[in-house]
Amino acid sequence: MIILLLKYGADPSLVDGEGYSATHLAVLFQHIPIIAYLVSKGQSIDTPDINGMTPLMLSAQRVHGMEPTSFLLKLNASVNRVDKTHGNSPLHWAVTSGNANAVDLLLEAGANLDVLNEKEESPLDIARQTRNHLIVHLLNNETQVRVRRNSRLLKALQKYEISLVAMVNLLIIWAVGYILDMNTDSWLLKGTLLALVTALSQLFARRFVGFKAQQSLAPIFLCCSVFWMFNTWFIYFVPALARIEYQLPFFLSLTSLVYFFYKTCRTDPGYIKSSEEESKQTIITLAESGCLDVRMFCISCLVKKPVRSVHCHNCKFCVARLDQHCIWTGTCIGLYYL
Ligand SMILES: [Zn+2]
Ligand SMILES: [Zn+2]
Repeated sequence: MIILLLKYGADPSLVDGEGYSATHLAVLFQHIPIIAYLVSKGQSIDTPDINGMTPLMLSAQRVHGMEPTSFLLKLNASVNRVDKTHGNSPLHWAVTSGNANAVDLLLEAGANLDVLNEKEESPLDIARQTRNHLIVHLLNNETQVRVRRNSRLLKALQKYEISLVAMVNLLIIWAVGYILDMNTDSWLLKGTLLALVTALSQLFARRFVGFKAQQSLAPIFLCCSVFWMFNTWFIYFVPALARIEYQLPFFLSLTSLVYFFYKTCRTDPGYIKSSEEESKQTIITLAESGCLDVRMFCISCLVKKPVRSVHCHNCKFCVARLDQHCIWTGTCIGLYYL
């Protein structure tokens, strides 16, 4: 019906008696395909209602699920715009209505924590007034994360995060090997030392390992194990087994393992990507052919899903003919691996 009305010249920017435009109503009733279609046909995602509230503010205030707030953020809705009447940002509205899901999504999208409304209140002030402990915790936690992110030392550490994690992994594997090989019969001593290594590695992981490095932990661990295998072979087996027919198969197997592992990690498994313009065109085409639903269209990547493609929540992409997300390579196994 909406497609037909627009085809015959209906104006989607008109507002009703309460001041809502078509996009606001689609948000209120959580009709994601309609929001997608209206935006693709040129409606601004930040179109204000009579009080200056954008669809994102309305969603943060009225809708307590993840959608359509998450979808509006995917469409680049402004997270820091304020309304005319109260001077509230989307984060103010989410906090006012105790909408923890929206608060979480807005913080992840980089919403400003220091915006003050007409009453000079920040989102944290409102959360404290309403005694919403979960939201106070979320806001305080985000403030700490952002302060830490601005620290010069941590910025430098983040730059070399992967190398640092690799070094620590090498050290942990060496320490475990050294402890197990210690010249003592005391399992109490060995157990205590192993527990100490575990506690220190946990502390390091909590303090310094970010999301990017977490995704790569398994491949890093695998590479470090191979490094120590090479070392052990070179130090212990090369001098002991001088004959080339013993050395060559091991050397060839290990180098091919490293080579094929690297090739597997670097191969595009079939990620489906599209530009903003292509996404809008896809939405219009699918909507006008009556196929704009979650079986055909991914609302996270804004792409048309080919047959047997699945959205991977680790890689944050749809993958053609997805088999699985492999933790050892840190990538998906899909079309181009088959
Ligand atoms: Zn997807
Ligand atoms: Zn994946």
